[in-house]
Order: sequence, then C-alpha cells, then structure tokens
Amino acid sequence: MERLRTRIIRPFDPWRSPLCTCPPKLSLDPYTGCEHGCLYCYASSYIKDFYNCRPKRSLIEMVRRDLRRIPEDTLISMSNSSDPYPPMERRLRLTRRCLEEFAGRNLRILIVTKGDTILRDIDLLQELRAAVTVTITTLDDHIAGRLEPKAPRPMRRLEIIEELTAHGIPVGLRLDPIILGITDDSIEELLTEAERAGVVHVVSSTFKPRWDSWLRVSEAFPEESERLRHLYFDRGERRGRSWYLPREMRLKLMREVRDLCDRLGLTFATCREGFPKLHTAPSCDGSHLIPAGDLTLNSQAWSQPRFY
Ligand code: SF4
Repeated sequence: MERLRTRIIRPFDPWRSPLCTCPPKLSLDPYTGCEHGCLYCYASSYIKDFYNCRPKRSLIEMVRRDLRRIPEDTLISMSNSSDPYPPMERRLRLTRRCLEEFAGRNLRILIVTKGDTILRDIDLLQELRAAVTVTITTLDDHIAGRLEPKAPRPMRRLEIIEELTAHGIPVGLRLDPIILGITDDSIEELLTEAERAGVVHVVSSTFKPRWDSWLRVSEAFPEESERLRHLYFDRGERRGRSWYLPREMRLKLMREVRDLCDRLGLTFATCREGFPKLHTAPSCDGSHLIPAGDLTLNSQAWSQPRFY
C-alpha cells in the first residue's frame, strides 16, 4: 500500500507476520483498549492498561483529516486492536460518528465485533460498502462467560448475525481463537447455527498465546492448563512473542473446520496459521464480502454481493 501520511486510520500491520494473508488495508480503532475483557486477547500484550477502555482523543477531527488523504475504494477495517462496539459505544457513539464520516465516500468498510450495539447502526451500514465479521468462540454460555466476561453471550451474537443479514449486510464468522479442551467441543453445532443465522464465510484460528494471555487463560481454566502447557511449551513452537500448537495438530483442526464449512456451503480461511492452501475464499478476513461498486452512484449495488 502506498505510503499514507495519516494519523489515526493507519496501515494494518500485524507485527509484520509472514503468516498473515490479509489483503492490504487500513485500520481504525475508535477506542484504546477494550471493555469486553476476553482472556485470550492478544492486543493486551502491546497496549498499555488494555482492559481500561478509553475513547481516542480528537478522534473525529483526525478521521476527517485522514479521509482527505485516503483514496477511493480503500479497505478500512474496524477494529483490529479493540472492539468498535464496546458497551461505552452506546453512550459515546464514536464508531457511529466514524461511519457517518465514511458515508458518501466510496470506501470499503470491514467491521469486526462481538458487540450488539452494531444493530443500532444498521441504517448507516446499509448505506456503505460494508461487511461485518462477528466473533463467536463457543456456544457454551458458561465457558463464554468465563472466557469473554463482558461480551454479549453467544446466542446474542447469533441474533446479531441474523439481524444484520436480514438487512442485507453480508456477515462472516470469526471462529477465533479455538482453545483446545475449552472451546473445541461445540464447533459443528456453532457452524451450523451460524450458517442458519446467515453467515456465508468463516475465518478460524487456534489460540496463539503470548505470555499475558497464557497466564489469564491458564489461571481461569486450571483444569486444562497442564495439558495446554505441555502442548504449547514442550511440543509446540514459538513464533515471535506467540506460542503455537504443534503444526500437525493445528493443520488437523483447521482441516476439520474447513470440511465442516464445505459441508455447510460456507467459504473458509485461516488466520495466521500458515495454511493458505486450505482457504476456499478470496480473502481470509471476509473483505471479499464487501459489495462491489460505488454505492454513492448506485444505491442497489449492495443487494448483490459478488464474491468471485
Ligand atoms: S473483543 Fe476483541 S479486542 Fe476486545 S478484549 Fe475481546 S478479543 Fe480483545
């Protein structure tokens, strides 16, 4: 991507990971940190005081300034280091105000969220070239409550998918991360329910702990920690600051998810696993779901998303 002199809508840079298969895109986080409190979150390893979510200062002024420099058709992802719909968004409306700034410009917007406040913004999303990916890691309410304590429960997230797709907004599922022994026993049911709710694409990955996320997960799930410790630290591999499960184990798991997606007619991709040959979609992150064409010229373009 051409070098852009922008301040807050910045090039997405996943630690320069050679395993990242994302298309070039810009990233915008209206908030620093996140309220959802997911134990496995990677962003806490590089954002100070991460679980103390706070709005970005002068956000809208900076967004306006940046948008003057961003070419048409640019892909902007919200958000990669926080959730754009934390509970405080209901009151602060920062994400909504960013979407209002995007309106009337021919940009491609990808929203990644667990938050149900997104339903408030359906009117704006319908006017944009937008797609949404909703993260669900398990259908087990009890596990989700321990793992993602302040995020909407899994059934609510299925309702988010249903509502968005009912309003013509394309939705993908982030089955991400899968944590062995904790979230991996309801995958088939989860995919079936997600497909029923309207999901057309799935991106999945295994848990790749950094030291702080490892401590949180192993303390919250002591019954699984010894087995996971052995898999990650004795048999697995280290890449940068993350630990990975043994390659053959990850490949088997991702293949199983891909096969389930095939059976359900869903496209599939992995996230930073190094298995691009398993992908059956033109993009991993779901950005291929974003409708083609300029909605500012043709208000019906979104009703016929073109994937291939
Ligand atoms: S919702 Fe996303 S950004 Fe927020 S804590 Fe959970 S994983 Fe991290």
